[in-house]
Amino acid sequence: MRAEPIKSLEGQSPYELRLNQSAGVPESAVKQALKSGDMGFVHSFTTGSTVDGPGVRVVGWTAGCQWRCLYCHNPDTWTLTNGLPVTVARATEEIGQYRSGLQIMRGGFTLSGGEPLMQDRFAVKLFTALKAMNIHTAMETNGLWGERLSDEELDTIDLVMLGIKTWGAEKHRRLTGKDIGPTLDFARRLAVRKQPIWVRFVLVPGLTDDPEDLTQMAKFIAGLGNVERVEVLPFHQLGRFKWQNLGLDYTLDDVNPPSLELINSTCAIFRAEGLNAA
Ligand code: SF4
Repeated sequence: MRAEPIKSLEGQSPYELRLNQSAGVPESAVKQALKSGDMGFVHSFTTGSTVDGPGVRVVGWTAGCQWRCLYCHNPDTWTLTNGLPVTVARATEEIGQYRSGLQIMRGGFTLSGGEPLMQDRFAVKLFTALKAMNIHTAMETNGLWGERLSDEELDTIDLVMLGIKTWGAEKHRRLTGKDIGPTLDFARRLAVRKQPIWVRFVLVPGLTDDPEDLTQMAKFIAGLGNVERVEVLPFHQLGRFKWQNLGLDYTLDDVNPPSLELINSTCAIFRAEGLNAA
């Protein structure tokens, strides 16, 4: 299977609405790509990011996600068909041209999404190729399908940026549509391996800001022993237009971004457990 010609892999912003980029790819070819990992479906690439892992980074936003988080700002990454077909060779070549700069700026490559492990074979092949070029690798994941990676494959990832969305089984199901258990199991497995984690947590007033829940979450995270940082990400409305354009039912219309006071008190809960939170 050949990839579509690509004029430019780089998006202007991860908030660009991109639809049907692989609409012409036959289903059988998609299945084959998922199985082999020789080709991935990528929403867009961003260069020069300073907020998606250590240093300055190139970020690949994959298409496809199993979850339906109520606050998701990229619902156009939920389906695979919205991703542009890109071969591992092409992605490696594109990212590789930044290698020296990324090394000088103590950065690397981050695979995000969507959910990268929807395309676990592609993720593994890309990380393996980039590690061979001595490029630092990070994966932002919801952790649901962490079990798809063997220990050897996990070795190709320098940093796992794990999204913990909220605390409590029922609340998690209401927020994401899925169980929290596999995410926590993946965190425990990474802890046993002493593999570095940055936890990413989106703070949504009235939805994820319960101090009791946050305390429980902080205790769990602190108990892992391998979490280098907790990133408290303030909810925003930048993705609302995507929900509207996609005809999806957006339930957070009336929710404002968290106040500075709420952000500070949330960080304080994590710090009280000895975590590095910001
Ligand atoms: S896991 Fe990430 S990409 Fe998937 S629905 Fe949630 S916020 Fe969106």
